[in-house]
Amino acid sequence: MLRSFFLYLSRNPQVQDWVVRLPVSRQWVRRFVAGERLEEALRVVATLQRSGAKAALDFLGENVHSAEEARQAQQAYRVALDEIYRLGLDCNISVKLTQMGLALSPELCLELVRPVVAQAQAYGTDVEVDMESSAYTDATLAIVHRLRDEFERVGVAIQAYLYRSESDVWALIQRGIKVRLVKGAYREPPRVAFPTKRQVNENFVHLMEILFDSGQYHAIATHDARLIARALDDARRRGLSPRAFEFQMLYGIRRDLQERLVREGWTLRVYVPYGTHWYPYFMRRLAERPANVLFLLRHIAR
Ligand SMILES: Cc1cc2nc3c(=O)[nH]c(=O)nc-3n(C[C@H](O)[C@H](O)[C@H](O)COP(=O)(O)OP(=O)(O)OC[C@H]3O[C@@H](n4cnc5c(N)ncnc54)[C@H](O)[C@@H]3O)c2cc1C
Repeated sequence: MLRSFFLYLSRNPQVQDWVVRLPVSRQWVRRFVAGERLEEALRVVATLQRSGAKAALDFLGENVHSAEEARQAQQAYRVALDEIYRLGLDCNISVKLTQMGLALSPELCLELVRPVVAQAQAYGTDVEVDMESSAYTDATLAIVHRLRDEFERVGVAIQAYLYRSESDVWALIQRGIKVRLVKGAYREPPRVAFPTKRQVNENFVHLMEILFDSGQYHAIATHDARLIARALDDARRRGLSPRAFEFQMLYGIRRDLQERLVREGWTLRVYVPYGTHWYPYFMRRLAERPANVLFLLRHIAR
């Protein structure tokens, strides 16, 4: 409830203005975002790699308003791919399709994302497509399936909070498309999404079991210690090796858990965001913890 209200409030331009100007926001942003520049993010990726973790780079941005902005995002990803390759990093890229113009035109989006996937595939890197609000689920999956016609190295996030996700997962498995299973970070009505945490968690476990039984390589993306323990139990019971799937977590969240999984020999990929358009990403991260929300609301009220 608080989370939904906070996400609703965060869309108000005046609130955005306050939050962006609050000094406390800047301090917190550094906790969740690797930096504003690609070089800073690459340094984080290199450090992660030295500690035994893989990474996925996310150039922050979403819902662009013009084809020009979408082209700039495409260019940023192309430069990032060149650098990942040049430095020999084990690092995927993660893209939001509304950053590549999905809301303006699906054709434009496909035209922009296609060369990115082609370049990634040539370098042996995967492109992971983030899943955004349910208004874009159909369009996002249509583009992912279209990309899969030509390229192997493309995957997509699936949100356990959506009722539709089980059938989406089956369709993706059928095409051999890598799934990143997440709980879901947007404000969704009960018409499309499970309203309680318990239901979301139950569906997460259900979808995780389908992914494990597929015999394909997928990603379990959560910081929820109980779900991670369940994943480890399920994987062991199925005799899955630590190389048969990966855990994913966000930069700056539950580093203790991240280190433990690496220490125990499991595969971990850390999602590393960078760039100047941090506001929506930051607000979603704050919304995930009631304590964060209350802290920020108190600062705004002052
Ligand atoms: C690698 C990765 C990629 C993602 N990609 C997408 C995507 O494409 N689309 C999408 O909708 N969502 C995405 N998400 C976000 C996801 O949907 C959840 O909103 C987010 O992961 C929080 O849920 P949780 O599974 O960690 O469980 P929760 O129950 O929310 O959290 C479990 C525990 O993790 C810790 N924690 C979680 N979030 C925070 C936080 N912000 N600050 C501090 N501690 C925290 C707390 O200790 C909490 O008790 C992604 C998440 C990950 C890890």
